[in-house]
Amino acid sequence: MSDTVVPVPPEVANGASIDAEKYEAMYKASIQDPVKFWDDHGRRLDWIRPYSTVRNVSYSYPDVQIEWFGDGTMNVAANCIDRHLENRAEQTAILFEPDDPEEEAQHISYAQLHAEVSKFANVLKTLGVRKGDRVVIYLPMIPAAAYAMLACARIGAIHSVVFAGFSPDALADRVNDCGAKLVITADHAPRGGRSTPLKTNADKALRRCGDDVKLLVVRRTGEQTTWVEGRDFHYETLAAIVEPECKPEEMNAEDPLFILYTSGSTGKPKGVVHTSAGYLVYASMTHEHVFDYRDGEVYWCTADVGWVTGHSYIVYGPLANGATTLMFEGVPTWPDASRFWQVVDKHKVSIFYTAPTALRALMGKGDQWITKCDLSTLRILGTVGEPINPEAWNWYHRVVGKGKCPIVDTWWQTETGGILISPLPGATPLKPGSATRPFFGVNPVVLDDQGNELEGEATGVLAIKDSWPGQMRTVWGDHARFVSTYFEMFKGYYFSGDGCRRDADGYYWITGRVDDVINVSGHRMGTAEVESALVAHEKVAEAAVVGYPHDIKGQGIYCYVTLMEGVEPTEALRKELSDWVRTEIGPIAKPDVIQWAPGLPKTRSGKIMRRILRKIAENDTGALGDTSTLADPAVVDDLVANSAHKQ
Ligand code: ATP
Ligand code: MG
Repeated sequence: MSDTVVPVPPEVANGASIDAEKYEAMYKASIQDPVKFWDDHGRRLDWIRPYSTVRNVSYSYPDVQIEWFGDGTMNVAANCIDRHLENRAEQTAILFEPDDPEEEAQHISYAQLHAEVSKFANVLKTLGVRKGDRVVIYLPMIPAAAYAMLACARIGAIHSVVFAGFSPDALADRVNDCGAKLVITADHAPRGGRSTPLKTNADKALRRCGDDVKLLVVRRTGEQTTWVEGRDFHYETLAAIVEPECKPEEMNAEDPLFILYTSGSTGKPKGVVHTSAGYLVYASMTHEHVFDYRDGEVYWCTADVGWVTGHSYIVYGPLANGATTLMFEGVPTWPDASRFWQVVDKHKVSIFYTAPTALRALMGKGDQWITKCDLSTLRILGTVGEPINPEAWNWYHRVVGKGKCPIVDTWWQTETGGILISPLPGATPLKPGSATRPFFGVNPVVLDDQGNELEGEATGVLAIKDSWPGQMRTVWGDHARFVSTYFEMFKGYYFSGDGCRRDADGYYWITGRVDDVINVSGHRMGTAEVESALVAHEKVAEAAVVGYPHDIKGQGIYCYVTLMEGVEPTEALRKELSDWVRTEIGPIAKPDVIQWAPGLPKTRSGKIMRRILRKIAENDTGALGDTSTLADPAVVDDLVANSAHKQ
């Protein structure tokens, strides 16, 4: 791993909301007296009835209890919209860039957002949706997705957004699991120049759901769809007849705001439950400081609203802060590989937040796509989703950021609601590949396998010692799974499931899932380290590494390698890569198997599903488990057919 230090540029520190000194002081205060700290910062929201109790938290197994601002009342939508009307009515809240660059972008002001969300909320009421009811949102990245989320929040319904790229089966599972009474979809979803028949997918899904589930259809392309009388409703028809005003419902701080299913890279997706006030306090505070958001800037997070990143950092965090948030319907590579950069150029984006998988894909296409665009408005760059390898980090910093934009490598999870470990642009010197230091109120610890806290420089399991307001409260319908997944293995801590290293400067380096640590002849190593070495080779585009049972070593190293476009997979190259890893890391890390992989099984959010790769490596391909969240299930068949066991 690289230990280069990139200092905070003076022009970034200048005027930043938090500088190094302030970070140290505020961080210390937040850990020493969390009640006082969050008592102060909870007031960033507008409360209907202010809280008198800041927190009521116990991590004591098995009676885990997490409550923040428990006796306060408020409304999330009012905090994201209504309170900005006085000063920002005409300011753009959502800047919508459609899939097709020829289609005009939309600037939706806070006043318009207020009108749209109020109308949407009244449509939901017309369809019988009440406080506490679940509503599944299966929409493309269009403003209506944000309207639908905020409309639910306004009337106190609980939304569960399902990524529009998911199959009918994945949709049906989620509708049934949360017991939704309404699904909101669109006729079609344009993406990357193609169009997905979303309504048709929803029809298929609803065949597997209860008869009382209704379907609300938003018009996106206007294409014809099939129609089930009595079950299906056109949004536009209802919106034309409802009242324009909708008073926000007074919600308790701990009323659920949404359920979101995890990406399922490690098992059956969990219905993560987030509640109202603590979540919003945390999402907005992290958005403000991690991105050093300044009034008037255009902020762009490229995630989909189907992921938690889209919830916290496209919709709730930025809107609670009165920001201008860009919503992009398309993909980075259509019409060509410069689309992201053209959008930055066109809308004068200051803050850009994306995933390493997108960066690696774009890096492979060459720098010419970037250098032809004007990226001079960019000030802060961010990444999320997986560890970013130093090659991709350096490329992002040098080519996209022209060496002047700090990169905030943000570590967090669906479960955490918001960013837990990340640099703050004006405060934290960067180390490529490290998520650096904890956010205010977050107390990370490194544990050994027995659950002992390790001091100073250490490698082990990443856990969090105390609660923060954005923490998930339960798994929908399965509180026992919540307690056993996160609080059983290491008593008294929130267990993240990730491994990490803390260096001498107190910086955290996420090494991947704890499950991904392998033991080769008694040596423990993160598979991420081997992957990082492989992708550092010029002929390798992507790599995934898993352990498998090995007679002599205990565990062997099985590598799936995707080569750069045009590179021939030969025996000589296999040997070259094997030797390369050996020299990069050491003889112990020498791969036992290298399988050429034209593609890797990834979730729609770009995460490699290692549990499937592990099964193939173990030659246990009978039960591959839930593959419904894979972007391209066909990839798996190819890997099974060409596995080392079939040679
Ligand atoms: P499931 O829990 O169902 O397996 P998932 O863990 O992939 O799904 P997410 O909540 O979307 O679902 O992802 C969180 C995980 O992503 C983290 O636990 C971590 O492994 C990884 N991750 C996110 N951001 C970073 C980062 N900046 N650096 C390293 N790893 C990251
Ligand atoms: Mg997870």
